[in-house]
Amino acid sequence: MATKLDPHHLVALMCYAFKDKQDGSPRRLDPSLHSLKGDIVDNYRTNVRTFPILDAVAHISISRKESQVVAIGLQLNSRKQEIRLTVAENQKVTDGLVNHLNQIWRKLQALSSEYERNRGGRWDRSQPRSPEMSKEVGLSLKMGILRDIYQYSLEKQMKRIDKWAKGLRRFMKELLKRRIFHHLQGFELSLYKAVVALSLAAEVVSKLHDNPKDQLTESEWELVYFQSILANEHVRIVLADRKEFGCELLAQELGDHLSQDPFQLRRALEKLTSLPRHIETLFRFAYSPRLRPALRYRLFISAVPKNAHTVKLPTSPQEWKSFLEVACYKHYDFQETHAVELAERFGSSKWVCPVHCECGLIQYLQTRQGNQWDCVPPFSYIGVSKLSCSACRIWIETFNEQSGRKFYTRGSHGRWYWPWGIPIAEGPLVGVMAPKVLDEYLAYLESQKLLRSNSDSSGASSDGAEHGLSDDHRKDAEAVGAAIVQEYGDSGLGFFDDE
Ligand SMILES: [Zn+2]
Repeated sequence: MATKLDPHHLVALMCYAFKDKQDGSPRRLDPSLHSLKGDIVDNYRTNVRTFPILDAVAHISISRKESQVVAIGLQLNSRKQEIRLTVAENQKVTDGLVNHLNQIWRKLQALSSEYERNRGGRWDRSQPRSPEMSKEVGLSLKMGILRDIYQYSLEKQMKRIDKWAKGLRRFMKELLKRRIFHHLQGFELSLYKAVVALSLAAEVVSKLHDNPKDQLTESEWELVYFQSILANEHVRIVLADRKEFGCELLAQELGDHLSQDPFQLRRALEKLTSLPRHIETLFRFAYSPRLRPALRYRLFISAVPKNAHTVKLPTSPQEWKSFLEVACYKHYDFQETHAVELAERFGSSKWVCPVHCECGLIQYLQTRQGNQWDCVPPFSYIGVSKLSCSACRIWIETFNEQSGRKFYTRGSHGRWYWPWGIPIAEGPLVGVMAPKVLDEYLAYLESQKLLRSNSDSSGASSDGAEHGLSDDHRKDAEAVGAAIVQEYGDSGLGFFDDE
């Protein structure tokens, strides 16, 4: 009976159960666990190298401050020398985004060609290097790419700066008060240099944001470029310190000293360097001879149409209570309170549930669209601007079990979101997904010990199928055993001797 439950209702229930907390599901993709068979090229290492590039393309697609998530799919037709990026969003994909990606791609192609030319000439060591040659190769192209990306993603980047930069500087100041300034070394010196570089870049970006009409000068963009890349270098050292625990140890030390919760140092550094880090990934893409074909091919970009369902959840505490009883196979006392809270949390109006971009993209790639890309197998790695939610993780798992093709993202953040819409509301996937979500719900109840302490519930034991001890009986039984062991003397070891 429970298998007939609507996955939407179960996702809403999980969202209520976990609120903002993580559900403890595995977070990151481990590429070594997947064969990635049939991917764009027949080389595992090359395939793995494209993961961060697709994630970078998804990341630079974000322009809005809030609730924008983007997924990117890749297809490569080497016979015709064509490449296609398929873009999906939780909302509608705008023409502006498609143009932006086209423009960045063209500039990456130009950068890649410049590297290629330079590689061609590098063997002639007999000639003295001209001042022009000793300059960083492709610097002005790289600056152009950085500028386009910062301008497109300005609102989002400002949000990151507003949220994290001040706290990071305050943290640095507290650290400096506790250390002798000139004696900073190693990890702390890198942190110091990173914070200085990040602050300088943030200041210029804020200036652009506050006065969008006053364009930044060349030298200001240069400052953003060099300080951001410098910050990336130092942040890499800081984040890796002491097997990736350095940030937490330092934040803990300072937090204890100030009697405050530790500052989220790692998160601040990751957020503030996310954009320049992804930009650097694109530069490396342009630089890679192995991946160069991808930048030689003709680019096509397709947008997945927006997809959403209207969903009606149970509306009253009574309806939620019946739903919970079906989900748990019987009545428990806790369901009364949960039902009231669920009715309050979700109200009685209908919900428009967008299909999250990674699932919408997979569904799109799996469906015949009536064009030349139908027969080009998509790359199994999907680039995402954000880790997937738990509902998407389960949907993708279900999809992978049910279909011949498999798709992966870089992982899940282990949180549940509502509203969430299933990509196709009918078909075998629905019936397989629901029990998987239900299993996780029951495991959650189990972890909260909510499924045990209900010996007085109306349905319990009535059919004789229930078995197990109540908490009181368990305690009593354990106390009896402990008393007996005690009789064998202090250590109780005699109890275990053979007679
Ligand atoms: Zn999702």
